[in-house]
Amino acid sequence: MARFKTLDDLGEIRGKVVLVREDLNVPMADGSVTDDTRIRAAVPTVLELADRGAKVLILAHFGRPKGQRDPRQSLSLVIDAVQHVLGREVMFVPEIAGSVVAQTVGILREGDIALLENTRFWPGEEANDAELARQIAANADAYVSDAFSAAHRAHASTEGLARVLPAYAGRAMQAELEALEKALDDPEHPVAAVVGGAKVSSKLEVLKHLVGRVDHLIIGGGMANTFLAARGIDVGKSLCEHDLAETAEQILDAADAGGCTVHLPYDVVVAREFAANPHSLRTCNVHEVAPDEMILDVGPQAIEALADVLKTCRTLVWNGPLGAFETPPFDTATVALARTAAALTREGSLVSVAGGGDTVAALNHAGVVDQFSYVSTAGGAFLEWMEGKTLPGVAALEAAAR
Ligand code: ADP
Ligand code: MG
Repeated sequence: MARFKTLDDLGEIRGKVVLVREDLNVPMADGSVTDDTRIRAAVPTVLELADRGAKVLILAHFGRPKGQRDPRQSLSLVIDAVQHVLGREVMFVPEIAGSVVAQTVGILREGDIALLENTRFWPGEEANDAELARQIAANADAYVSDAFSAAHRAHASTEGLARVLPAYAGRAMQAELEALEKALDDPEHPVAAVVGGAKVSSKLEVLKHLVGRVDHLIIGGGMANTFLAARGIDVGKSLCEHDLAETAEQILDAADAGGCTVHLPYDVVVAREFAANPHSLRTCNVHEVAPDEMILDVGPQAIEALADVLKTCRTLVWNGPLGAFETPPFDTATVALARTAAALTREGSLVSVAGGGDTVAALNHAGVVDQFSYVSTAGGAFLEWMEGKTLPGVAALEAAAR
């Protein structure tokens, strides 16, 4: 028995009412959607349900209206974008439960799609109120959970509904869960993890979880400086959390005990000022960083060594850039290692999964997003998964399948 049910288990749904939780929390400027990635992620599930003859009711949150109606955060603002991306007409319903939704269901034909109002207009949503979930469920026959990026929140529309209706993972949720399972829960070994980014403090739980699971832990970015400093290396003016030296030591000890090899850079790219192509730019051994210099990227020798590590691995999970990639040439290591991972993935020797806001931007910059096995845009939910946490929305789907 699979861990969760999918649309394949849904059976005959012609004329049935299906609630689909999507993530439509898109960025807007001057009244229009500036990035429709999340709407596009909803397309396969919504169209499959509609094409199978269901009456589709889309549920989503939008912004942070804190349990009150706020016209500036109404999902009616994204209906044009949703219709455009789906290529279908979508009816907007200014409620999520009650008689207005019931009347809408009455006039919808098989295959019609409606978008319900922002779930967060109702205080019961974030409170995960069972009564609200029952009221929403009263108008439907099944619940499809398709927003992994919202699954780390136990809300009525992400978790509660799975308790009161037959619950299924949508295609986007299914793809995300299958990719993440292959990367960390049940991966082919050896497994490498790349953890980079600015600060150790923001990813402590991630590091602690990974050292017990992966064979190689590659630490880059600003957080590598904290580990280097903990080992007694003078990192000059680099971004560094000196107060976390002891924590860094504990993570290194845990890695040692668990048979996980930690890779810290042994050469680095440094500069005295943080600017594009600064005059003071140079590459040096980590032991040669001057007191007035900052480490801003992993050096060329280390990049080569890390590429060799990836070549021996079957699985890669990546969160956080190796350097200050927004500013050239400190994108060099991130771009190089990303391209190595992409090439190994194309050859079929590596399963590569990456996620994180800046990580996705860095992989886009390297031009390899579509060459990784899976790139998660889920942000907070992706990080919680990397921390080994059980996401409530996922747990509810699993419970519904038992
Ligand atoms: P993600 O969003 O993918 O989880 P983070 O937010 O943790 O990643 O980290 C990304 C940030 O880390 C980037 O803005 C990058 O410039 C910064 N960064 C990486 N390496 C360094 C470094 N050596 N010094 C300062 N900042 C760095
Ligand atoms: Mg970030």
